[in-house]
Order: sequence, then C-alpha cells, then structure tokens
Amino acid sequence: QASAIVSTHSRDPLEVLKRHFGYDSFRPGQEGLVRAILDGHDVLGVMPTGAGKSICYQVPAAMLPGLTIVISPLISLMQDQVDALNGVGVPAGYVNTTQEPDERRSVLAQARNGNLKMLYVAPERLLTDQFRQFAARVNVSLVTVDEAHCVSQWGQDFRSSYLAIVDFIALFSVRPVVAAFTATATERVRRDIVRLLALRRPETVVTGFDRPNLYFDVISMPTKRKNSWIVQYVLRHENESGIVYCATRKETEMLASDLRSCGIRAAVYHGGMDATLRSRAQREFIMDDVPVVVATNAFGMGIDKSNVRYVIHHNMPESIEAYYQEAGRAGRDGEPSRCTLLWNESDIVTRRRLMDIDPSNQHLGVEEAEVVRQNHRQLLNAMISYCRTTECLHRYIEEYFADPHLGAPKGAHAADAATGGAADEGTIAQRGSVEGGATILAADEPVIHGGKCGNCVNCESNFETIDVSVVARAISRCVHDTGQRFGSGKIVAVLRGSKAQDLIRRGLDQNPSYGVLRSVAESRVRDVLNQMASDGFLMISEGRMPVVGFGARASETVKPGFHYEIKRLDHRRPSGPMLLEAAHDS
Ligand code: ADP
Ligand code: ZN
Repeated sequence: QASAIVSTHSRDPLEVLKRHFGYDSFRPGQEGLVRAILDGHDVLGVMPTGAGKSICYQVPAAMLPGLTIVISPLISLMQDQVDALNGVGVPAGYVNTTQEPDERRSVLAQARNGNLKMLYVAPERLLTDQFRQFAARVNVSLVTVDEAHCVSQWGQDFRSSYLAIVDFIALFSVRPVVAAFTATATERVRRDIVRLLALRRPETVVTGFDRPNLYFDVISMPTKRKNSWIVQYVLRHENESGIVYCATRKETEMLASDLRSCGIRAAVYHGGMDATLRSRAQREFIMDDVPVVVATNAFGMGIDKSNVRYVIHHNMPESIEAYYQEAGRAGRDGEPSRCTLLWNESDIVTRRRLMDIDPSNQHLGVEEAEVVRQNHRQLLNAMISYCRTTECLHRYIEEYFADPHLGAPKGAHAADAATGGAADEGTIAQRGSVEGGATILAADEPVIHGGKCGNCVNCESNFETIDVSVVARAISRCVHDTGQRFGSGKIVAVLRGSKAQDLIRRGLDQNPSYGVLRSVAESRVRDVLNQMASDGFLMISEGRMPVVGFGARASETVKPGFHYEIKRLDHRRPSGPMLLEAAHDS
C-alpha cells in the first residue's frame, strides 16, 4: 500500500527535474542516461566529479515503479543525500553501520512496504543475510553502483566488497536495470566495470573532462621552499577559499602551523583526527569561517563547496585521476580558479616508496600484488609526465582520459593529437569504445583543438629550445660504458666527474665517460636523462633500485646527424608573476 509516494504522473524526465530538483535543464550527458535507464537499458556514466551524476539516477528513481537501490562506499554522505531527497519529495532512506539494528530494520520495512523510492547501502551490506532476504521480497527497478571504479584493481580505490555486487544482482528473479557511475575514465577501468558488474550492452556516456575555468599551474621547487611559497600565496588570496593537499598527516600539521603563525586561520583535516574534529573542520571550511583547509586526500569525498578559488598540491599525487579529482574541487561554480601543483624529484621517490608498502595490497597474493604495483607505477609515470611536459596541460588531461596509454613515450601521441582536423571534431566518447557491445552515446563538450588553451602555465609561458644533442649522446655512451647497471644518480655523477668515495671505490673514475660533462650543470644532465627516458631512448627500470638501461630508440643516439632538444622556460622573457616566483631552480 504505497502511501505518500512521489507523484510522478508525468512521463517527462525534464518535468521531474524541474519539479523535484528545481533545475531548468539537464547538463551534458544527463538526459541521455536518464532516458536509457527509463527505457530499461543498463548504463555506464563516466563524468568528472561535480558534473552531476546523482541526477542521472535520482530522476529515474523518482519515475520508476519500484525501488532504486544505490550502492555507495561513501557512508558519511548518505545522511545528507537522503535528507536532501526527502526534502524535495523523493522518499529515501539508508542502511549502514552507523545505525542501530532497530533503525535498520525499520528502514527496510518501509522500503518493503513501498514507502521508499530510494535506498542507499554500502557494498558490505549486500552480503548480509538480512539484506539478501529483504532484496528477494521487494520490487527493485534499478540498482545504481556509485564510484563503480572501486570494482577494478586497475584503479587506486579497489574494494573487494564491490566484487559481490554481481552476485547480489543475480539474486533477483526479474533483473533490475543496472546503472554504474564513475569519475575514472580510463578505458581499462571502464572495461573492468562492464565485465565485473556484468552490465548488459550498457549505453555508455563519457562527458568531457575538461574544465575550462580551471587554470593549471605546475611549479618545480625544492621541498624546503614549498611551505613559505604556500603561505605567501594564501596571504595574497586571503579573501578567497582554498584547499591545500599534502601527502602526509605530518605535513598538513606543519603547514597549518606555518599558516597560523602568519595570522591565517587554517583548518586541518586528515584521517588520523577523530570524527568530531574532522566534521568541525569541514563545517568551518564550508561555512567560510576559515579561508583555507590543509588536508590529506581523506578530505573532499563529496565536498560540494562551489566557491573554492584555488587548490594547491604540496606534493605530486599518485595519479592523474587522483590529481584531477582533487584539483577539480576548485571552481565548481564555473568562475576562474587556480590549480597549482608543487613538486620536485624527491616527490617521485616518496611516491614510489609509499607504493611499495601500500597496505591495501596485503590481502593479495604475491603475483596479484605485483600486477597491482605495476599498474600503480604506470599511473604514477603519467603523473610524472604531466609535471614535466611543456605542452598544454588542459590538453594533456583531456588526452589522458581519452586514452590510457599516455604513460608511454610521448612522441607518437603528440603527433596523433596534432593531426587533429575533421576526425577529431567530435568528443572523447566517440574516440573510445568499450568492450561488450556497448553503445557509446555522444557527449557534447568539445575537445581542445590546436596548440594553446590560454589557461595553463605551459600555454602562457615562453619556452626556449635548447640543443642538447651532445649531452644526450654522452649520457647514452655512459650508460653503455658502465654496463646498464646503475641508477640515474650514478650516471650523472660519473659524467660530471664526482669525487664521491663510492664511485672511486668502484673504479668508475677510470671509466671513459668519467667527467666528460663536467662543465654542464647537474640539473641539466638530469633533465636530459629524464626526458630521454620518457622519449624511449633510455629505460629506467621500476622497483626499489631503478637502473638506467637502453630503450627502444637507443641506437638513434649513435647515428650521424642525431639531434636532440629540450624545452625550458625562457627566463629572459618571463610572462606573468607566477613564473617569476617559481624561479624554476630544480
Ligand atoms: P557528481 O556526483 O558528478 O560529483 P553531483 O551529483 O554531486 O556531482 O552534482 C554536483 C552539483 O551539480 C550538485 O550541486 C548538483 O545539485 C548540481 N547539478 C546537478 N545536475 C544539475 C543540473 N541539471 N542543473 C544544475 N545543477 C545541477
Ligand atoms: Zn594550455
């Protein structure tokens, strides 16, 4: 006996959107997904954070005859979402571990009696007998899987409980429509979602990942200068709201104390704080009681603050996905906002170390863990390339999400993009394809064309091209002379004629390459070596003790006429105050 159920006599999703949610129109991608679900098709919605995924299943949920179950790992957000839905006349409830058993029972009873349209659950709950029995006796129209990338071990948020979703769906005598949503766009993860959730010919919508109002900045600077740089920045933007992400809890505390000693009210947020303190920090930030929050990546899941004007990263994140998700919390209102990434070579070392001791791998067997580690290394390599590239950062991100192979040598990729033209006229969605007979609906945001976006540091900077053929040839020669056995530190030391004991003990001072680049700055030699690795001339092995060996293009360096260039910021022609500050002294 359905009582105060939502009154959706209308069969028009747009009307439901207006009446219940108060929006005038659908955003890109939303309507296609809503209609597909209403027509009984499985869907996969790939949209960046903030694009409005929730509407895509809330509108159909309000219109479909039965219950919609929303599987979400974000327990802390369920209450808010459910309150909001009840507030707009879509009866909703949730069951999770924060409730007393009685409370859970009563919510399930309401759902069984047809008094709820939507029910939010954490994936762990699906496995309980109570929930299975409940599901067997209720009319479920739609199962929505939020944060669907958690099912894939290719991403960083893998949760084994997601693997049980497919069995849960199989329990129903009449299979509900299954709708999966994620902000992780790489093709490999998409394929995993389709396979592991057993989506049936899902209609897939990938909306543009570009956020044109965000200015992307990457600055290389020594660790010891980062905090004072950030303090200066925050002081100059005192009336704006911002987030600073740090890699460790300790760093958040230290930076917050630096900010406070300069009179800035800064909140701290990390996973080691107790829940009351965390929610106080979050509230203070959202209510604009404090202008800036210094946080680890624990902060932000579901933070919906529209006027964040800047997001600064104190360290290099673990992947482009992680970076884009965090940086993307800036400028949700569409106003110009700034995303700044501070990094240096030692961040890479830190990241690799964290990866090797990642506790989330501990449940895996040795081989599986190695596969996961390999994958994480690839994700990190793409992040490193983002920091080093001199090309447009908007375009880099767009291409990364359109094509997961960006971690590979960049030459071929850049060439593809440059040929652009008619074939490129469409959207990301049309470029990819998902296995399993999926339909790809068009998404309607344009890809950046041609060279410059005008809204990232690389497009605003002047780069000078430096001929480094001699340096490159010497590096290649040295790798050969020392037998492809040493890491980049040793190679650089040999070339620059270092007097280090360790080097002499190994007799490397007798090597023909010893000291041949004595007159070239160490940072230059290092830069050229790194770029040669990303261009495929050298190959740096992964693991604890990376060794420099030859890459596929190594033989080119010994051919006559070999020519090699790097691009560096041209200090004679700085453009913009940020560049002056950066003083690129890595
Ligand atoms: P996501 O889950 O993709 O990160 P949300 O579903 O939380 O994004 O939506 C982000 C914001 O966009 C919310 O504040 C939401 O109310 C708003 N929003 C969603 N769809 C629309 C729309 N069609 N028109 C206007 N605002 C919308
Ligand atoms: Zn650009």
